[in-house]
Amino acid sequence: MANRIWLSSPHMGHSEKAFVEDAFTTNWVAPLGPNVDGFEADLSKYTGVANTAVLSSGTSAIHLALIILGVQKDDIVLCQSFTFSASANPIVYLGATPVFIDSEEDTWNMDPVLLEASIQHYLSIGKKPKAIIPVHLYGMPAKLDEIIRIARQYDVPVIEDAAEALGSTYHNKPCGSFGDMGILSFNGNKIITTSSGGALISANEEWIKNARFLATQARDAAPHYQHSHIGYNYRMSNVLAGIGRGQMQVLDERIQQRRRNYELYYDALKNIPGIHFQPEMADSFSNRWLTCVLVDRSQTNSITREDIRLHLEKDNIESRPLWKPMHLQPVFADAPRFVNGVSEKLFEQGLCLPSGSNLQLEDIERVLRKISEIIH
Ligand SMILES: *Cc1c(COP(=O)(O)O)cnc(C)c1O
Repeated sequence: MANRIWLSSPHMGHSEKAFVEDAFTTNWVAPLGPNVDGFEADLSKYTGVANTAVLSSGTSAIHLALIILGVQKDDIVLCQSFTFSASANPIVYLGATPVFIDSEEDTWNMDPVLLEASIQHYLSIGKKPKAIIPVHLYGMPAKLDEIIRIARQYDVPVIEDAAEALGSTYHNKPCGSFGDMGILSFNGNKIITTSSGGALISANEEWIKNARFLATQARDAAPHYQHSHIGYNYRMSNVLAGIGRGQMQVLDERIQQRRRNYELYYDALKNIPGIHFQPEMADSFSNRWLTCVLVDRSQTNSITREDIRLHLEKDNIESRPLWKPMHLQPVFADAPRFVNGVSEKLFEQGLCLPSGSNLQLEDIERVLRKISEIIH
């Protein structure tokens, strides 16, 4: 059997081990220490957002962001439907109600028209939404101009889910820096990884201080353990932050490698009828975390994305359908939604191709050869 080609696997640089070694040498094997401070400083510099708290995951970052915004039981939070479930789960942790907003065709992200319609609906019944969670899926910036304008107009805070979009920009400004808060993820398959981890970023220093406080069990200033708030154990460890510091040194290289993958796939497949790629708007720069294609069976002699996926799998190549929209998930069957059919079509037609920054040219050629066996 040929070597496994993974969808997106960790890709270490040269200095991660040295930073981790340093944590051992100095015995900072704890959820604080110089690597945590250093990784936070690196991220703030990179995103241009003054305050960063590194945490145990992107999910915990969303959870804390919602808590800091005061989201409570029975509140409404507007969330992109076309996303990974982690964007929405923390809304439910708080007993609030996620309301799912469908995507537009241009970026595959939150549709500003539906977003505004949903806000007007909830205002009309006297229930102002507590937050908006747009997502930059597969690294592609959402229509931030419109989303932020609507959010400001109706005075609803934005938590920007940039878990997949570190290094992407919109009008040359980093994704994650547009919302009132942004979240990042360093899970194993993201563009850089600390094996698991995440970050909450914001211009608001008080919020990030509060996030660090809540993430370390909400301990009051006292010699004994004194608590006036419910706390969480959400801080990133100094060992994993060392991996993050090393990964920051190669982030720009990783983006170039991911974008090269996209170019190779695009050049080889763009002329095949029925194959379409995720568009990149003129004002946007995507890190191309994953290269995604749509397969329109009405133009491919009925070959579907599932046919391609299974054909690749037979050759030990991992690919994956696009995210299944949250409003189609059994667990969110009762959640309110504002939909237009776009994300359902994306899910039906879409496939993520192997996109790791560590793929070799011959790996991509192998994927392309297999695809060309069933579609041309
Ligand atoms: C990965 C991801 C998250 C969650 O990050 P974790 O670090 O895995 O908790 C949230 N939103 C999106 C869109 C993601 O892809």
